[in-house]
Amino acid sequence: MSSGDTIVAQSTPYGYSGIGVVRMSGSESTKIFKKISRIKKKLTSRIANKAYIYKKGDKIDEVMVVWYKAPKSYTGEDVIEISCHGNQYIVENIIEECIKGGAVAAGPGEFTKRAFQNGKIDLIQAESIANTISTSSSVGLFNAISGVSGNMSKSIRETKNKIIKLLSYCEHLLDVSEVDIQNDNKKHTTKEITKISKKLAELTENYDTCRVLTYGAKIVLAGKTNSGKSTLFNVLVGENRSIISKSPGTTRDYIDARISLSGVPILLIDTAGIRQSNDSIEALGVEKSKELIKDADLVCYMTDITDKNSSEVPDNIELMDDRVIYIYNKVDLINLKEKRKAKDNSIYISALNKTGISKIKSSVLKKLNVENVPDKLVGVSTPRQFQCINNCLVSLKNVSDILSVGFELELICFELNEALESINDLLGENTEETVLNNMFDSFCVGK
Ligand code: GDP
Repeated sequence: MSSGDTIVAQSTPYGYSGIGVVRMSGSESTKIFKKISRIKKKLTSRIANKAYIYKKGDKIDEVMVVWYKAPKSYTGEDVIEISCHGNQYIVENIIEECIKGGAVAAGPGEFTKRAFQNGKIDLIQAESIANTISTSSSVGLFNAISGVSGNMSKSIRETKNKIIKLLSYCEHLLDVSEVDIQNDNKKHTTKEITKISKKLAELTENYDTCRVLTYGAKIVLAGKTNSGKSTLFNVLVGENRSIISKSPGTTRDYIDARISLSGVPILLIDTAGIRQSNDSIEALGVEKSKELIKDADLVCYMTDITDKNSSEVPDNIELMDDRVIYIYNKVDLINLKEKRKAKDNSIYISALNKTGISKIKSSVLKKLNVENVPDKLVGVSTPRQFQCINNCLVSLKNVSDILSVGFELELICFELNEALESINDLLGENTEETVLNNMFDSFCVGK
């Protein structure tokens, strides 16, 4: 269960806006609000009231307040939501008064963590809430909202019940004499395992697409210094954000920008050129580039086609064929018939003249497997959910393997228990505190 503290945080972004929202959750919320507003009127749950907030006797804002009486609130506790004028100074003063009144500042994701701990939502729904806030594609949003409303959780709980039913069936057979165990029992177990595995596998089959459409894809522009990475970055971003210079080594660290390619969110990263460097700052930039390349969903590896020595990728970087697009730049400077030793799937462009750019865009969408995404897609999008389902599928596969050579019930029950544990992890049942903390730490404060 959550701690007894009443927590407070700003739920709207930092800065100036039409409205700012301060949220409190915990058993002391209404008492604290009454103290800072001096309101005499009896609050009614879910009814908005006008009130004033006071600081040292002076009114600091006129606000609207809504009290959500426990357990019918986001967190399952008493919640007070104060909508004030969206001035950061006012918001901070209201929070300060709440803290003086007995509240404590909420940590990242603490409201959602309390909702989870109070049984209002499971972990899949909690992650979907985070995705609803972070996604920037319509398909990602559709998937996230479907998760918040519990569709994925419902399907997972149905699967969980099927595993429990099969497990008790097999446990029952443990008490039956070997002579009485029939071929039918084995057939039934095999059929059920196949059905359960198929249902789970369906949830993960679009994982990469769902992940990219939820969080966006990381695309790294890499290649030797002066190959034209920054020029291409600026063309793709559509503004002059990166410094372009004729002297090698200008983009020393890295620069990134969020763009959208046919509705697919992309984090585009322009790296320092890959070359040995004696300059320690630039060398650091090169090391960073190697890290970014490792972590990327896709690398656009650029080569200056006029540079006689640069057609090969240097030994010090590793590229995976299914995650790289080779781009030859500066074709405006050569006769195209001169195309040298190019890899079959290379793209020829002139970043300066903006030619070949549409080929890069279509190739990126193809490589990311998001070329023909339907308007609506539902499936697993977080690495944690993907891992849990895969663990479960491994245990179910082990059951199939056992069944293919016999009917060793003790082993089958062991694997079914393992499968069940993975499903419990997925829903957040019996999940360790450290795993929960890691997850909620990635949420924003006030959510
Ligand atoms: P980076 O070090 O890889 O980021 O390379 P830059 O984008 O800074 O480009 C290095 C130099 O090449 C600059 O002078 C650019 O204007 C020039 N350049 C980039 N792309 C092209 C191109 O397509 N054609 C020509 N002729 N020059 C280019």
